Amino acid sequence: MDYFLTEQQKTIKDLARRIAVERVLPVRAGLDEKEEFPWDIVHDLAAADMFRVFIPEAYDGLGGGCLDLCLVTEELSRVCSGVAVTYAASALGSMTLMEYGTEEQKKRYLPDIASGKKLAAFAITEPTAGSDAANIKTTADKVDGGYLLNGTKQFITNGGEAEIYTVIALTDRTKGARGASALILEKGMDGFTFGKKEKKLGIRTSATRELVFKDCFVPEENLLGRPGTGFIQAMRLFDKSRPGIGAQAVGLAQGALEAAVDYAEQRVQFDQQIINMPVVQHMLADMAIQVEAARALVYAAARFVDSGAKAVTESSAMAKVFASDAAMKVTLDAVQICGGSGYMRDYPVEKMMRDAKILQIYEGTNQILRSAIAVNLRKRKARTA
Ligand SMILES: Cc1cc2nc3c(=O)[nH]c(=O)nc-3n(C[C@H](O)[C@H](O)[C@H](O)COP(=O)(O)OP(=O)(O)OC[C@H]3O[C@@H](n4cnc5c(N)ncnc54)[C@H](O)[C@@H]3O)c2cc1C
Repeated sequence: MDYFLTEQQKTIKDLARRIAVERVLPVRAGLDEKEEFPWDIVHDLAAADMFRVFIPEAYDGLGGGCLDLCLVTEELSRVCSGVAVTYAASALGSMTLMEYGTEEQKKRYLPDIASGKKLAAFAITEPTAGSDAANIKTTADKVDGGYLLNGTKQFITNGGEAEIYTVIALTDRTKGARGASALILEKGMDGFTFGKKEKKLGIRTSATRELVFKDCFVPEENLLGRPGTGFIQAMRLFDKSRPGIGAQAVGLAQGALEAAVDYAEQRVQFDQQIINMPVVQHMLADMAIQVEAARALVYAAARFVDSGAKAVTESSAMAKVFASDAAMKVTLDAVQICGGSGYMRDYPVEKMMRDAKILQIYEGTNQILRSAIAVNLRKRKARTA
């Protein structure tokens, strides 16, 4: 299908695909096996200006929007979803800065993220605050000249590897989520350390770590936006970033579909290629339909975000839920089509199936997002009644 991308978007997509095929493909199995952070690939992406894609031109970026970011993420995820999330998490860690940062803050941090010299990360989740993100306990008490941060963030992508962190913490613990604020932290600040690196089912090349704050002093000038707006900033961020998770899902599902077609063409049973068997053909056709429907919804949701529309919560959630469910189903079917070989690490589909699961969990589980969509349906009905 033609999605009428601009010439610049086609160029970005082609370049991301080339890096994925030439640089990621040869090392993806090893990175997964060793659970090794993909620094060499991060450097390749930086050299190809891929981190500039999502940063405004005024701060050394290319000024791309949500769709541009989705195109790069999709192409990387077609080969390795762990690499794709490492890249996309740097965008996640920069987005609130781009939207709420002062000129001085943007000048200080964004050019280094654009050049790929520094990775970024975003941290809201805590041991007691996952789906119930409003229940965060990390505190940022006001002291002379800044804030004193105490608490632990859990499951943070790029944790330990990133240099720049957007952290949501309570600056007024009496007000709950309304007392939350966003702060910029830098690796190396006194009192800011990293806890254990998680050992994961999938996306194993990506780093997922705890962030630990013990009387960590954060200067006043590192506050993002007004005090008390941190939770709202986080929710608006996810509205804009969820099409990116959808794009990760589309790329992953596309890669699994292609691997399944390749296998079905070369595998002979009962004296014929299994791709000639109607049952296999129908499975492949259903997989292709899921991938294309997911892509269409993700691109539409990304374009809606790029239009500047405010009410993007529902469309972004729909894109994330539909595409991640599609990726789970498509990768499971890809393993099925590859039979016993599909279950072996010599073939890529078992990794793809493992990588798919997280897409239904992070940035809002699919149950939570379905509930949010349903609430909107009722609100809309009430408005039109
Ligand atoms: C690999 C990985 C990377 C991550 N990266 C980041 C990151 O970079 N930054 C960050 O801040 N966070 C990150 N997260 C955290 C992620 O967003 C949370 O794990 C996710 O929001 C779910 O929270 P939880 O794990 O606490 O699950 P819980 O909230 O404990 O949910 C457990 C189960 O209960 C269900 N459930 C809970 N409440 C409801 C409800 N009201 N209605 C219906 N069902 C419900 C959930 O859907 C789920 O099935 C990451 C997580 C992982 C695993």
